[in-house]
Amino acid sequence: PVKEFFDLKQLIEETVRMIEHPALVQKIEITTHLDADLPQIWGDSDLIKQVILNVLVNAEQAIEGQGSIIVESRHYVSKDPPKPGVPALPMVEIVIKDTGCGISEANLKRIFDPFFTSKEVGKGTGLGLSVSYGIIKAHEGRIKVESTVGAGTTFRIYLPILPPSG
Ligand code: ADP
Ligand code: MG
Repeated sequence: PVKEFFDLKQLIEETVRMIEHPALVQKIEITTHLDADLPQIWGDSDLIKQVILNVLVNAEQAIEGQGSIIVESRHYVSKDPPKPGVPALPMVEIVIKDTGCGISEANLKRIFDPFFTSKEVGKGTGLGLSVSYGIIKAHEGRIKVESTVGAGTTFRIYLPILPPSG
């Protein structure tokens, strides 16, 4: 894995383009709101792309018929230092929101487990989110989810912008 500074806005746009055609066929509207001045961030861009693609494909697969996916990103300075004595960090938040089927409370506890899938045989391996969780953890970030059955799901990915110091 190669960590370097990369353009997150460009990476998100490229990844959205990868699912645009199947989404269009399915009448899913994809909207992006990306900070115009999103800074370059430190990490392995191929791995971060894999995470965003996993979450986007899940969003698309969760929508039956028409629906929408919103992708947002913004940067901010964390007001909650991760550990006492550690200074506030410049962070980026990536939000991927869908109007899909939602996730039951029982399933919410298991979605990051390896091989957990609610999809038919051949449609899902159940590895996407567990691999994504590991990738985000390796970048010292966090991934969170909120969901309402029948209404939709929102994934939030938080990543530090700078390489770890020390
Ligand atoms: P897979 O997509 O192969 O099933 P993942 O690890 O990507 O495996 O996701 C695990 C499970 O989490 C899915 O099978 C599904 O039940 C649930 N899930 C993930 N994202 C969403 C979403 N956006 N909407 C509804 N369910 C989701
Ligand atoms: Mg998946």
